[in-house]
Amino acid sequence: MRTIGLIGGMSWESSIEYYRIINELVRERLGGLHSAKSVMYSVDFAEIETLQREGRWQQATQFIIEAARQVERGGADFVVICTNTMHKMADRVQKQIGIPLLHIADATAEKIKARRLRRVGLLGTRFTMEGDFYRGRLVEKHGLDVLIPAERERETVHRVIYEELVAGKIIPSSKIQYLDIIRGLVRDGAAGIILGCTEIGLLVGQADVEVPVFDTTLIHARAAVEYALEG
Ligand code: GLU
Repeated sequence: MRTIGLIGGMSWESSIEYYRIINELVRERLGGLHSAKSVMYSVDFAEIETLQREGRWQQATQFIIEAARQVERGGADFVVICTNTMHKMADRVQKQIGIPLLHIADATAEKIKARRLRRVGLLGTRFTMEGDFYRGRLVEKHGLDVLIPAERERETVHRVIYEELVAGKIIPSSKIQYLDIIRGLVRDGAAGIILGCTEIGLLVGQADVEVPVFDTTLIHARAAVEYALEG
């Protein structure tokens, strides 16, 4: 079994989900008392959030490169960055380490393509919804058609993530707002919805939505287990 290197803490509310899902899946696959071999480097999210908000992406990149080196030194065979947003620097991180990085958008795109869907809606932080590193990758590398909410709605999605979900607050009125936004994307033709922030699954899930939901936390954690147990 390969050792999974998790870069977590962004936020720990979702890292704990990764940890749980990964261990549950290994137990399911191998039985008995088996659990996943992993090392985690968990950041102080306040430091990361400040760098993001102030647009200090070069420093944020250095930060994640250092975290990746730490998990590599800790014995990891591959790296999993437990957040969509911080895949903004994934390609640069990959160049600075000697082990593979399992990209969250690639893992998600594979699931979407396996369902033969093309047009999907994307929810996430404004960095993820608006930047090219994520949407661009889904479009150019995977041939998907990616819809994002209108600006005011993007603001809501982003605010709920940073003011509520990463702080462990699950608020019913925010869920209603999210489901409204999702319905709008479906009306515009989205045949599936990407929960492109690792905390969104704490608020909404497949049971709330009529089209297939792609929860990136679940997909990424599953992909990590597949790779860890491969071969
Ligand atoms: N966990 C979130 C994501 O998947 C947001 C927190 C962050 O900015 O890393 O994008």
